[in-house]
Amino acid sequence: MHKELFNRSKKVTPGGVHSPVRSFAGIDHAPVFFESASGPYLFDIDDQKYLDFCSSFGPMILGHRDPDVQEAVNQITAKAWSFGACEKYSLKLAEWITNEIPWLDQIRFVNSGTEAVMTALRLAKGHTGRDYILKFDGCYHGHVDSMLVKSGSGLAGLAESSSAGVSAAIASETLVAPLDHEKAVEDIFNEYGDKIAAIIVEPLPANYGLLKQRKEFLGFLRKISSKYNSLLIFDEVISGFRTSMSGMAGVADIVPDLVTYGKIIGGGFPVGAFGGKKEIMDDLAPHGRVYQAGTLSGNPVCMSAGLATLKKIKSQNVLEKINNECEQFANGLNQAFENHGIDMQCHHMASLFWMTKKLDTPLRTVAQIPENQKESYNRIYPFWLKEGIYLAPAAFEVGFYSYAITKELQEIGIEKIVNGIIKAHE
Ligand code: PLP
Repeated sequence: MHKELFNRSKKVTPGGVHSPVRSFAGIDHAPVFFESASGPYLFDIDDQKYLDFCSSFGPMILGHRDPDVQEAVNQITAKAWSFGACEKYSLKLAEWITNEIPWLDQIRFVNSGTEAVMTALRLAKGHTGRDYILKFDGCYHGHVDSMLVKSGSGLAGLAESSSAGVSAAIASETLVAPLDHEKAVEDIFNEYGDKIAAIIVEPLPANYGLLKQRKEFLGFLRKISSKYNSLLIFDEVISGFRTSMSGMAGVADIVPDLVTYGKIIGGGFPVGAFGGKKEIMDDLAPHGRVYQAGTLSGNPVCMSAGLATLKKIKSQNVLEKINNECEQFANGLNQAFENHGIDMQCHHMASLFWMTKKLDTPLRTVAQIPENQKESYNRIYPFWLKEGIYLAPAAFEVGFYSYAITKELQEIGIEKIVNGIIKAHE
């Protein structure tokens, strides 16, 4: 049935999917087609139940169809779906967030993380009057043209396009450095310092596995960007409202000039946002010279779902709880790996986790990722599905722990994940 639907999808949609990570590439199993979701579970079209450790890649931090969020959505859909005009719902969410994060003077809502990053980069360039952006190898910032680049083979720092359709001219305005490498960043600033509009970084890189950075490295990025009058952009599309209410900025005690959000901020509905200091945000249209707009920006349904989600996260102390529980989960997995002689390790931070072959050193850079990561993950993956475990169907995507996973489900999850690994190797 899943295969049949996938074949039909492939006829009408490129590769059968609306986002490449959903395609089960390299996995010996057709993509699972889902029908419904509730709390910690996903249900497929055959009514098979899966314990969800993917959480829609982050937004479903409270689990699926949380009753408080559902109530907020019911209330607003009974009143309006879209105004394309001023309304109080985006105002409430903007006030709530700027109140919660004291250094965030202003915020603007868009419809995805990509859109948030795209605009933050344009704003940084417009504000500084400079053209270059420095990014890091191993950080993902959505499918913004200038971010679809990799380290070039020529001069250190210069990028090359990593996607057809991104011209060499666009790629040439992006510089790329390795994570966890102060000297490489310093060298790039020595060469291009007065041309760099901004450094953009995922302060907790979680798109190429989980590459936890040293606080000193993040602090260094703050210092060097200030020294050269470049902006520091924290891309907190994943880490925002997850690692702490003020994201990794709060955890690392660093104030970025601009920040981007997505995922959790819309409570499962499409929202992105970017924000920062007033003097920078003031450069945006209508009164600034940097243009940005959106028909569905600040959509009342998305705003209401986002506000209900954030309020619940705060009032029920959700982050502290799931951060602790994810740590117990990762420790439980590591203990089980040891008990069964499995050469694997579960890395974790806050409510994110990622499994690799066992490593001797903390995982911080792309170069440290074990070579067999993809092969090993793809081999195990169908066995996890059989066990009723849904993790991201791609080896470099992290796991997202949700508030809906009870202590009992945590233990069941550990057992089933380990069973899947054992069966894959029988
Ligand atoms: N930035 C980061 C750090 C992300 O993880 C993502 C998506 O995973 C994006 C930007 C792009 O967000 P979206 O997929 O909503 O466009």
